[in-house]
Amino acid sequence: MAILVLGGAGYIGSHTVYELIATGHDVVVADNLTTGFRAAVHPKARFYQLDARDHAALSDLFAKEKIEGVIHFAAYSQVGESMSNPLKYYDNNLYGATVLLQAMQEHDVKNIVFSSTAAVYGEPERMPILEDDPTKPTNCYGETKLAMEKMMYWASQANGLHYVALRYFNACGAHPSGQIGEAHNPETHLIPLILQVPNGQRQKIAIYGDNYPTPDGTCIRDYIHVSDLAQAHILALDYLLRGGENNVFNLGNGVGFSVRQVIDTARQTTGHAIPAEIAPKRAGDPAQLVASSAKAQQVLGWQPEYTNLADIVETAWQWHRTHPNGYEK
Ligand code: UDP
Repeated sequence: MAILVLGGAGYIGSHTVYELIATGHDVVVADNLTTGFRAAVHPKARFYQLDARDHAALSDLFAKEKIEGVIHFAAYSQVGESMSNPLKYYDNNLYGATVLLQAMQEHDVKNIVFSSTAAVYGEPERMPILEDDPTKPTNCYGETKLAMEKMMYWASQANGLHYVALRYFNACGAHPSGQIGEAHNPETHLIPLILQVPNGQRQKIAIYGDNYPTPDGTCIRDYIHVSDLAQAHILALDYLLRGGENNVFNLGNGVGFSVRQVIDTARQTTGHAIPAEIAPKRAGDPAQLVASSAKAQQVLGWQPEYTNLADIVETAWQWHRTHPNGYEK
């Protein structure tokens, strides 16, 4: 039996595929390569280029492969873009998930682990955030992920789907082998953008707002290494295959860093001055997002390995320094 990783050519998907293969799983990757890269797919995974909205292609895949569980990453994930083009997000994220669940139901595949996000909480009322805290997304990206969670819930009530939703905080870092890492086009995420400065690709980093209600005025996020996220997917899948109940877990380190602190860490790691300038706030950004991951630790036995921001930034730097243009030659 194999695991289907939808979106396995993307950032978190590709790292999860590497971990699945390292732990002896048979892996099938499907990706439309809109934002993913063929070169990011582990050579031992069987690859299908298809779109999650393509019902016929998904049905063919389920007919050909014996799939016991699905890990679903395939979605758009940029906060800013989701605010200017919300329908693009509804179409890919929600319609894609609908078609996937339909195809799974038709082929009697019951187990799914899927990427959700801290953005489902919106502007949180308390810190750290617990899984049963209110969900009021402040951006369309988070809204579509929350709607996907609800879709899984109702499908589970009606036809016995088993699901785990993993709400990631800020994914960052790269595989310690240096073979795969973060590559977005255009890049919008803080750490890769900062590292473009010492890489000679950018003059300075923009800080999106410095009058948030935080100690230094810049936004606070909980940065979690992509390899730790990958491990959590494997634990969640094992949990479902053992008969674990439907569940939702936060995944973060439980420690918040401001944008300024992240820039300072990158200055220390790279030895570069990395000039920064204050820029307007980005629409939809909450001031502070920090996870409580106690539930994932207790129920799944998850224990993040990279608990130090400097170590995380070091793995990111190793990747970006050696792959300044990502997967492109
Ligand atoms: N950010 C920033 N400058 C940038 C990119 C991001 O100040 O060039 C800030 C952004 O406003 C947020 C944090 O860095 O507070 C992390 O943003 P990112 O896009 O990496 O992740 P998100 O929190 O949106 O998932």
